[in-house]
Amino acid sequence: MRIIDTPEPMQSLSRSWRRDGLIVGFVPTMGALHDGHLSLVHAAREQCDRFVASIFVNPLQFEAPEDLEKYERPFERDCRLLREAGCDAVFAPSVEVMYGARTTSVHPAQTFVEVEGLGGILEGETRPGHFRGVATVVAKLFNIVGPQRAYFGEKDYQQLKVIEQMVRDLFFDTEIVPCPTIREEDGLALSSRNVRLTMDERKAAAVLYRALRESVDLARDGERNAAKLVETTRALCEAQPLVDLQYVAVVDAETLEPVTELDGRPVRALVAASVGGTHLIDNMAL
Ligand code: AMP
Repeated sequence: MRIIDTPEPMQSLSRSWRRDGLIVGFVPTMGALHDGHLSLVHAAREQCDRFVASIFVNPLQFEAPEDLEKYERPFERDCRLLREAGCDAVFAPSVEVMYGARTTSVHPAQTFVEVEGLGGILEGETRPGHFRGVATVVAKLFNIVGPQRAYFGEKDYQQLKVIEQMVRDLFFDTEIVPCPTIREEDGLALSSRNVRLTMDERKAAAVLYRALRESVDLARDGERNAAKLVETTRALCEAQPLVDLQYVAVVDAETLEPVTELDGRPVRALVAASVGGTHLIDNMAL
């Protein structure tokens, strides 16, 4: 497995693979890998001839400096996991390489990608600038890695939709492959941030899963009123004192616009909460 930290060697490696007729897969991550990331890695390994994972904690998508600072960076362990999973190359650039910096001779970046509609609602409202950071870094990484397929988790559902929109709008020649959310035994979605939870917070956090599950069950039993589903999810979350609920939304699965009625088109329930100051999100298809 090659570990590459600048764009040129990554671009030329990927170009040589494509010239040989090989399908190149890509799994972008911020590291601190868990089984959620590894499920994407396994899908890429099965479906592609070569695959690249990136490890880059993208400062542009963090609005709270302490969140960026606290972000785990177990680089050696991540590389070992990726090597064991059959990864062909890890792309792990510095912030200076990706964005330039005034402290080096490189000029700071001036080009950013903004997915206006999808990027401004829900998470985009709670975390202004977040999806501009995500779309910008993914566009850069796509140009560096040149993948035919890129793997994204449904755990970050809005991120997945933002990236799909960007790929359509900017004509990236990359197929976006969504992968299902991997969960702990009690239903909590795996996240690199879960390690920050105390034992009590960790227990409390599973309410997000149970509350979404309840909406799924109600919808399956015939409830069509979206406001009722939102209310049920909200009430369950708010009953848990350690969970500071940020939003619950029942939305069209493509546009992420709120729906009033479940009328057969694909609909998604999304939640976000702060648990002991740690930002957690989850979602399910209704
Ligand atoms: P991150 O390192 O948090 O930027 O995540 C990298 C990729 O892993 C994104 O596509 C995430 O959606 C995906 N991912 C994170 N957690 C999970 C999970 N629990 N199940 C499936 N995919 C996940």
